[in-house]
Amino acid sequence: MSQPQKLYEGKAKILYPTEDPEILLTIYKDDATAFNAQKRGQIVGKGEMNCAIAAHLFEFLESEGICTHFIDCPTPNQMRVKRVTILPVEVVVRNIAAGSLCQQTGLPLGKVLPKPLVEFYYKKDELGDPLLTRDRLLLLELATPDQLNQLEQLALQVNQSLIAFFQRCGITLVDFKLEFGIDTNQQLLLADEISPDTCRLWNQGETDPEQRVMDKDRFRRDLGQVEQAYQQVLDRVLAQEGSRQKAQSKRL
Ligand code: ADP
Ligand code: MG
Repeated sequence: MSQPQKLYEGKAKILYPTEDPEILLTIYKDDATAFNAQKRGQIVGKGEMNCAIAAHLFEFLESEGICTHFIDCPTPNQMRVKRVTILPVEVVVRNIAAGSLCQQTGLPLGKVLPKPLVEFYYKKDELGDPLLTRDRLLLLELATPDQLNQLEQLALQVNQSLIAFFQRCGITLVDFKLEFGIDTNQQLLLADEISPDTCRLWNQGETDPEQRVMDKDRFRRDLGQVEQAYQQVLDRVLAQEGSRQKAQSKRL
């Protein structure tokens, strides 16, 4: 069977149509980019690692009552997802100050925030994905006021679930980016990916500010051992999954 024409090739994934118009096939790539694609490279094995991490996190979030686009993984770097219309808004949740929050506010790296901070960024590479205010977001009609409130609530709910999940992995969830989309029933679904490309994750067993980094900052900041860090995240997520399944089967 010949491969269908790809619908879209992004920086980290390729989207293909399937026989079912409501289902897309996502191929996770080893390609890595940073600083709005000014820095490019490869992280060997990233496609498979991120696909597996994202699959487990989506399944976990579904079990926590959050609706996601995840269906299944036919091969290690492929994910079938429900097709949605992506809202052009990146929802970022921060628990600890890092990255652009430090650069733009002067908050010191590692400062624990008094409560989670939800931010909205315009998903538009040509403009460099700028930070939005609520009013700008509404002005541009990127979401309705109702959707905006829903996005915020969902993002906070995902944050609480993921903080607890990563805590059990010995990992601190510093911050992360989410994308949401609307399906054919007008339902808001969590889409795209959740992986070390889209989260800041710190190893709780390390105090050194460089050693503790287990996410794409290792690539961004040339810290080395990038593949090893992603593998560590995957191993811990899988171990966590295993213990959850064991606990579930014991309860049955
Ligand atoms: P980008 O370079 O735009 O970040 P990626 O390499 O991350 O792209 O590829 C994934 C693209 O597919 C993103 O633009 C993302 O918004 C979109 N996408 C993710 N999940 C879905 C989905 N369920 N339906 C439609 N589009 C999706
Ligand atoms: Mg992307």
